[in-house]
Amino acid sequence: MAMADMREPIESGCPDGFQYMHPTMRRNFGQWKFHDDPQPGVLRHVANNGDEVYTVKAGTQRILDVFTLRTLCDIGDKFADGYIRFTIRSNIEYIVDDAAKVEPLVKALTDAGFVVGGTKNSVTSLSHTQGWLHCDIPGTDASGVVKSMMDELIGEFTAWNMPNRVHITTSCCQINCGGQGDIAINVQHTKPPKIDHNLVSNVCERPSVVARCPVAAIRPAMVNGKPSLEVDEKKCICCGACFPPCPPMQINDAEHSKLAVWIGGNHSNARGKPTFQKLVASGIPNNPPRWPEATAIVKRILKEYKAGAKDWERINEWVERIGWPRFFEVTGLPFTKYHVDNWRGARASLNASTHIRF
Ligand code: SF4
Ligand code: SF4
Repeated sequence: MAMADMREPIESGCPDGFQYMHPTMRRNFGQWKFHDDPQPGVLRHVANNGDEVYTVKAGTQRILDVFTLRTLCDIGDKFADGYIRFTIRSNIEYIVDDAAKVEPLVKALTDAGFVVGGTKNSVTSLSHTQGWLHCDIPGTDASGVVKSMMDELIGEFTAWNMPNRVHITTSCCQINCGGQGDIAINVQHTKPPKIDHNLVSNVCERPSVVARCPVAAIRPAMVNGKPSLEVDEKKCICCGACFPPCPPMQINDAEHSKLAVWIGGNHSNARGKPTFQKLVASGIPNNPPRWPEATAIVKRILKEYKAGAKDWERINEWVERIGWPRFFEVTGLPFTKYHVDNWRGARASLNASTHIRF
């Protein structure tokens, strides 16, 4: 076949982002002199040639209906230059290249019921995992947790009150997308799975389920004359990893699937090495639709962080400085045996660097 007749390969993955960029950003790629923060929710970037770009950030509910999306886009067409992007924390950002466009844009967003903020030392929107909409294993409604918490933290989103930025995450199981943040609210199963033996042989590949268990607690077994599985409950750490490949390993439970709060996680290695988050509260009721118990704990931690941290200390740096005993003292959270990680496998199998291992 002649080269000219050959079909171009089909490229998949992210499209080239440059085509969606504001022209002023494209023109000045790699040529920025400095950036600053004129007001909460607004960033200003200044290029070497004097060009300016203003970014206006507003919170959204992440799972967007068509009406809201159209409203946001109409605001972009009318009050901005028609360029938007979404951040990983579900904030929408509008880009304009004229300071005079900032205030009308902020007003249009506010009038339409959106909240402008989430920059610098604020509590920006909570990030959350896919949840019910796209995933088959959630133990809670992550977006519901986000909504109820942000309703109570809205004043911290629109102002610069915190010692440094606060990133909060939620996660609806404890094994997969799981958030790593200054504060993380994650599902915590507290009982081993209940097995529906009638379904196992119809639905599950037993060897893959056995292989999924990190502590080798699952064995093949014959139950009522049918091939099934059994769990050594003394070994089971209630991680839930057997549930995705085998839904009859029912681990979600209205009473025993709880929430846990972890703090001090930081991916960045800008000022120090990345840090793992650590458990500070467990067994919190998974209590829809407003999750008041979990929200109260997050607010308590934020209150003490705000009062006790030095300027620009992130939560992990604050706790490292004052010490964990003092953290539990000031927040009033009980320190229990569950806060001590004595699992022997952790040292060898947990990833403690920024390198990705498979
Ligand atoms: S955190 Fe777990 S349950 Fe939630 S979307 Fe990710 S994999 Fe699914
Ligand atoms: S919940 Fe986790 S530890 Fe328990 S049996 Fe399932 S995979 Fe193994």
